[in-house]
Amino acid sequence: MAHIVFEQVTKQYDNGFVAVKDLNLDIGEDEFLVLVGPSGCGKTTSLRMLAGLESISSGNIYIDGKRVNELSPRERDIAMVFQSYALYPHMSVFENMAFSLQLQGTPKPDIQTRVHAAATQLGIEALLDRKPKQLSGGQRQRVAVGRAIVRDPAAFLMDEPLSNLDAKLRVQARAELSKLHKKLSTTFIYVTHDQVEAMTMGSRIAVMNQGILQQVDTPQTLYDQPNNVFVAGFMGSPSMNFFDATLKPEGDALFIKAGALRLPIPAEERSRYQPHIGTPVIFGIRPENIYNPKFAPPGINPCEVEATVSVVEMMGHEEIVYLALADGHEFLARVDPRSRFTPGEIVRVSFDMNRFHLFEQASEHVLA
Ligand code: ATP
Repeated sequence: MAHIVFEQVTKQYDNGFVAVKDLNLDIGEDEFLVLVGPSGCGKTTSLRMLAGLESISSGNIYIDGKRVNELSPRERDIAMVFQSYALYPHMSVFENMAFSLQLQGTPKPDIQTRVHAAATQLGIEALLDRKPKQLSGGQRQRVAVGRAIVRDPAAFLMDEPLSNLDAKLRVQARAELSKLHKKLSTTFIYVTHDQVEAMTMGSRIAVMNQGILQQVDTPQTLYDQPNNVFVAGFMGSPSMNFFDATLKPEGDALFIKAGALRLPIPAEERSRYQPHIGTPVIFGIRPENIYNPKFAPPGINPCEVEATVSVVEMMGHEEIVYLALADGHEFLARVDPRSRFTPGEIVRVSFDMNRFHLFEQASEHVLA
């Protein structure tokens, strides 16, 4: 396993475009770190710089305390699994998995043992004689992982390795990769644009946007305490609802005013937000923190809001409801499936005022 450090790493491509800016990231041994962000945010570029497939414009990358900026990919003791799997089409599964060991001059009996051990681990022993074109997508993905495992690297880098699988297989493969990480006790760095993949697999998640690292933390902390509007909106599905708002004092109380909304801030939070009275803010609340009052669980801090239902998506275990306030502002709620809301209906929903977020409009940072 490897301890990996990005120190002020920047990548500027030849055309002048800065794809990654001042990236600082410390990835512990044995960690499963997921790099997540929308298309084009610089995830792959970061991974390729670590793998040695892309040069670094400025800053340093260290693996186990050793600066690797100028080392070739082979000298870095890390294995990469690509989205395309990059299997050699003319070689059998066995030959694909054995290839890097042959290049290293590993003795034949050793190669046999290591390829068979990896194949057993992944449940692909029966496929060793097949060519890639005779495999399903899921099987190809396992071969690509197997090819990395046989090298027994200090770290695995994976670039969207599940994106070619159908939804069901992806869920299965996610669990398999998590198990594999536990079994191998090796550093995994995994790139995806899918926040569900990030939430379910990462021991920590690094969220990137436009080449800049936004926040690194455990999945739960990112979900509960996002640093800024981008992270708040990116993590969680459906996304957090946002409303432009201001904070207004009324007597001893403090209210969030957003168009037709007037929401009381709980007494214990008032002193925290007092300094921001008059500042334009963004009020955020997740669809899962908005309830049908009839089915609201105990322990929430409800504030009822009237809205018109526009669309209802019945998911079986919940209803996703698209709602509009009297001022036209739209938002989503995930409510109890017994609600049976219908389009056009005017309903009351409860915002849980123990679970809201406030950001400064200008900087989009969370209010301190
Ligand atoms: P995706 O999820 O779509 O793969 P990504 O987050 O992995 O996206 P990168 O592939 O790292 O993003 O690309 C980051 C940015 O750098 C993109 O805007 C891309 O167009 C740009 N880029 C990538 N390679 C080059 C290159 N060789 N020259 C110039 N710009 C590049």
